[in-house]
Amino acid sequence: MEFNESVLVKREHDDDVTPVEGKSQWMTLHCGQCNAVLSDSSCVCGEASSLDAVMCLKVTDDVIVTDVKRMGHAGDLANCIYSRLKCGGCSGAVGKVIHAAPFHLSALRSFFLLSKANVSCYVLNSSQTVKASTLSFDQKPFRENMAKTKETFESTLAQMASLKARIGERNAFRKQKK
Ligand SMILES: [Zn+2]
Repeated sequence: MEFNESVLVKREHDDDVTPVEGKSQWMTLHCGQCNAVLSDSSCVCGEASSLDAVMCLKVTDDVIVTDVKRMGHAGDLANCIYSRLKCGGCSGAVGKVIHAAPFHLSALRSFFLLSKANVSCYVLNSSQTVKASTLSFDQKPFRENMAKTKETFESTLAQMASLKARIGERNAFRKQKK
């Protein structure tokens, strides 16, 4: 799988997890048992904290969606229709995909929900393998990202305006000399 763009935000204000340094983390997600590659950070689009799972838009061929559709009767998946995900390497359970869900879980439908307890991450920046449970995959709110982008854009615009003014002054000075 290719790495495109990904922003994984380290968890803050939580002493139980070890945040990995750096704003953006490039990583591959692996089966916790046999290390088969399941996905990568470019496909991660958040965390389903109620299910303790990483939400992935895409997974590798090593993630097998089991054909059996199950109905959750109790717990977090009550009234959901879901299939289990298993690892193609070792057949171990690696997560779930929800096909139908009550309103409060409807945003999770069709995502590959990789169970953090069964996944490890190889962090490219540090060349370290860490348990997915030690990382937060929460995405920054969209508005916060937009505000940051606007700030960067305005700063660049101000720099360009300043540069343009200086070039204008220099040209005027040269004309005077002639
Ligand atoms: Zn496996």
